[in-house]
Amino acid sequence: MYTTQKNLQDYSYKNITDLDQKNVVLRTCLNISVDGRGDMIDPTRILDSMPVIQDLATKAKNLIVIGHLGRPKGRNSSMSFQNNILNHLNMEFDNKVIFLEYLDEETVTQTHAKLSQEKGNIFLIENIRFFKKEDSKDPIERMEFAKLLSSMGDIFVNDAFADYRESASTYDIAKFLPSYLGDLFLKETWMLSKFNSPERPYVAVLGGSKLSEKLDVMNSLLQSADKVLVGGAMAYTLLKAKGVEIGNSLFEADKVELAKEILYKYAEKLILPVDHLVAADFTEEAVVSSMTTQGESIQEGMIAVDLGPKTIDLYKDIISDSVSILWNGPMGVYEWEKSAVGTKEIGLAINNNQKAFKLAGGGDSIAAINKFGIKNIDHICTGGGAMLTFLANERFPILDVILEKQ
Ligand code: ADP
Ligand code: MG
Repeated sequence: MYTTQKNLQDYSYKNITDLDQKNVVLRTCLNISVDGRGDMIDPTRILDSMPVIQDLATKAKNLIVIGHLGRPKGRNSSMSFQNNILNHLNMEFDNKVIFLEYLDEETVTQTHAKLSQEKGNIFLIENIRFFKKEDSKDPIERMEFAKLLSSMGDIFVNDAFADYRESASTYDIAKFLPSYLGDLFLKETWMLSKFNSPERPYVAVLGGSKLSEKLDVMNSLLQSADKVLVGGAMAYTLLKAKGVEIGNSLFEADKVELAKEILYKYAEKLILPVDHLVAADFTEEAVVSSMTTQGESIQEGMIAVDLGPKTIDLYKDIISDSVSILWNGPMGVYEWEKSAVGTKEIGLAINNNQKAFKLAGGGDSIAAINKFGIKNIDHICTGGGAMLTFLANERFPILDVILEKQ
């Protein structure tokens, strides 16, 4: 687990006394869930980001807001900020937000002029991932882009805990400006630090799509937690490694060997589904006529889409006996009604455990939590990957780059 001797509160932008004379570049998490058309499915992240945006908008000289949405491969309308994000900010700020769609020379020059001559402007840069240099593999290109972004501010504030990967706007920029943390970032790290020495029994519930994305953290969770309950598509790579028939269920062939090692090492702690909801096809129509398996093996041709009833009961028992609970990732294809049962039941079991300290996170996990009206989680982390990485790793670069400088 990431630990720092430093008092993070010392790095809060709230310690700055002359904010009204500073142009602030804010990196925040605007990565709301949208569907293929760009319609908003879940607004949690923008809502959670608003307090700091509002605070800086009133206190700073001018504010430049940066965020990303999705994993775009080039510009597209469904992930553009021109839809939901700009509308949301314009509603909050009386249609005064200045939208920077491109960062060409003319736009940047005009912006610089406004920043030096005027006060009280709020600029919103288009989805930062539309700019190729943001995540360029070439560190020099990333630096160049970070330098351009930094030219618009006197200080940098990072409030995007969820966007923990090292990009120009989350990491490199901190090398060019005095840098601080926002309240949401501070809150997330504070809540997660409670898992430094968790009360036991401590259970981690892990689901979602890909084992590969969560392998490292699973390893580390298996060391710290008393039990790790696995659901979602990632369970099938592990079951495959165990030698169980998984039919046509989604799995990652190149991770089977690693999965075998984990199974061998943590046979007692790692709990896998003992039955499943299976469908003949991976479509919502097919899931309507899905059925449950008798045991852990899946008939040829069938695809697992959710936990079966025996697994749900088994997991619920373990959850109700625990006093520390960490949850990331849906237990099944929660987007479809019939295969939402596992996620809903497990989510409610976590919700109903009154005595436990409960933490959940992840884009889809948040969407599921809201969909099923789950209210009693102590802290809902905006980032799933960020939450797990923070708990598993020795380093958290977007934070270190700020701490190391001051
Ligand atoms: P989070 O965003 O909370 O970290 P992930 O993005 O890792 O979660 O995973 C969520 C996705 O996993 C959902 O779209 C869900 O439909 C999918 N999923 C869950 N179970 C299965 C399954 N058995 N087969 C295929 N996809 C699944
Ligand atoms: Mg997701």
